[in-house]
Amino acid sequence: MEAFGDIATAAYCPRKLYYRRKHGDGTEVPDDVSAVRALAFRYEELLGPDADLASEPIAVRPAAYRRALRRSKERSDRWESLIDPAERRAFLRGKDAEGIAHKLLSGPPAPVLLSAGEPPERGVWRPQSVRATAAAKALSWERERSIERAYVEYPAYGVVRTVRMTTRRKAAYRRALGAVEDLDGPPPRLGEDPRCRSCEYREECGTKTRSLRSVLSL
Ligand code: SF4
Repeated sequence: MEAFGDIATAAYCPRKLYYRRKHGDGTEVPDDVSAVRALAFRYEELLGPDADLASEPIAVRPAAYRRALRRSKERSDRWESLIDPAERRAFLRGKDAEGIAHKLLSGPPAPVLLSAGEPPERGVWRPQSVRATAAAKALSWERERSIERAYVEYPAYGVVRTVRMTTRRKAAYRRALGAVEDLDGPPPRLGEDPRCRSCEYREECGTKTRSLRSVLSL
C-alpha cells in the first residue's frame, strides 16, 4: 500500500522521493500551509462585505482575490458541496494507495485536494493530477463505483480546478505508482530539467536546470 504523497512525489521525480524517504522529510504540515488550507473552508465569509482580505494569507491583492473567488463560484458545478463538504480530512484506502482527501463531497462523491501553492495557467500541476487520481481511485475502490472527477483548490488564489479522470491521467498515475513500487536505491537524475530548480535536494543531487512551467502542467 503506497501513500498518495509518495506517488505524487514520484510523479515529480522518483529520485526526489528517494531523498525524501532517506531524510524522513515531508511528514509535517508547516503552519503557513495549514493557514492557507483553512481558507478553503471560509469562502463565503471571504466573499462577504466584512471580510478583511488584507489580513488573510492570500497570495494576490484583495480585489484580485475577490474576483477570482467569485469566478470560481460562478463556474463551479459543485460550489455548495465545496463550501460545505460531507467530510473534512477523509482517510481513503484503495487497492494500491491510501491517504487523505482534504474534503470529500457527496452526491456524487468526489475527493478534493488543497494546494497551498500557485495554480498553473490551466489545469493542475502534474503531481497534483496524480495525487487527485490516486484519491479518486481509492474512493472508487471504497465505494465500489466509478469516480469521474476530483477537484484541486488553490485557496491562496481563490482558484478551484476540476480534474477529470481521463485515460492520460490514469496512465500518469500508473507510471508514478510503478515508480514508487520499484524504488530500490537512487533512480537516475532527470538531467537538465526545470523541475530541479525548485527541488530542495538539488545540491545533494547535483543537477543543472532549464525552465519549469513548460513540463509540469497537465
Ligand atoms: S534535483 Fe532534479 S533529479 Fe535531483 S531529485 Fe531533485 S528533481 Fe530529481
